[in-house]
Amino acid sequence: MFRWLSGRGAAPRDIERTAASIPAQAWERTLSGYPFLHRLDAHERDALRQRTAWLLASKSFVGAGGLELTDDILLCIAVQAALPILALDPALYEGWHEIIVYPGGFMIPRQDTGPDGVVHEYVQEAAGEAWDGGPVILSWEDVQTAGDMNVVIHEFAHKLDLQGGDADGQPDLSQHRGLSPARWRSVLEDSFDRFCDALEAIEDAIPADVDPESPEADAWFAQLPLDPYAATDEAEFFAVSSEAFFVDAQPLAVALPDWYALLCAYYRQDPLGTHAGSARALSPQRDPAS
Ligand SMILES: [Zn+2]
Repeated sequence: MFRWLSGRGAAPRDIERTAASIPAQAWERTLSGYPFLHRLDAHERDALRQRTAWLLASKSFVGAGGLELTDDILLCIAVQAALPILALDPALYEGWHEIIVYPGGFMIPRQDTGPDGVVHEYVQEAAGEAWDGGPVILSWEDVQTAGDMNVVIHEFAHKLDLQGGDADGQPDLSQHRGLSPARWRSVLEDSFDRFCDALEAIEDAIPADVDPESPEADAWFAQLPLDPYAATDEAEFFAVSSEAFFVDAQPLAVALPDWYALLCAYYRQDPLGTHAGSARALSPQRDPAS
């Protein structure tokens, strides 16, 4: 294992010191495996490396279900987790310590109260989970097979959302002067409603003889800018939108331009380069090394 495992507990101020702990070859190999990272310039890659190393040094990675953690697994998870905070204060990921990794999907106990008031308990398979004040849990199989969906970015977006209080699709905006909570809520609600309407229209248009779970139905849902799971609630809308924002932003930017612009302002990144000169340049309001 690389040296970073001995550095647990690193504070954000250690961020520059820890970057050197990722060997150059492993770093380049990891970057090349993720096409959505190829847009980053040299300055941004350095910032990503610092944050990746800081995550590796400050979080405890735990293999569960018999999974033997390797440097490759750690690096693949950390680099994707670091992307959302590339231009944000790393302290937004503080207040919890563990990243638990299962070999594949894992079972989570759930509870639902039916309309009759009866509580139903059941278990559900999950690819990822982010607990409020607790660990991020990931399925390594799902981390590896991520295409347009990205379970790491999804769960870490939930972490950012939770830093803002409840999981409601609104992250902490206290370090974003000029980005008011009222404006966030208004654009979020409007974009969420428009997405739900678009999903409903697709569902109505799918011929009755097509199974909604079939690959044939997938071709219909592919017309949407986001996975239908985004319609679950505002928290999932923010998490799924964040995946799309970083991995395949074009359909999102075309369908929901105000929401895309708001995500650019929040993440201080512009994956499409459409807001050149403002969000494209890294401009953290607080130097993470200070
Ligand atoms: Zn989620």
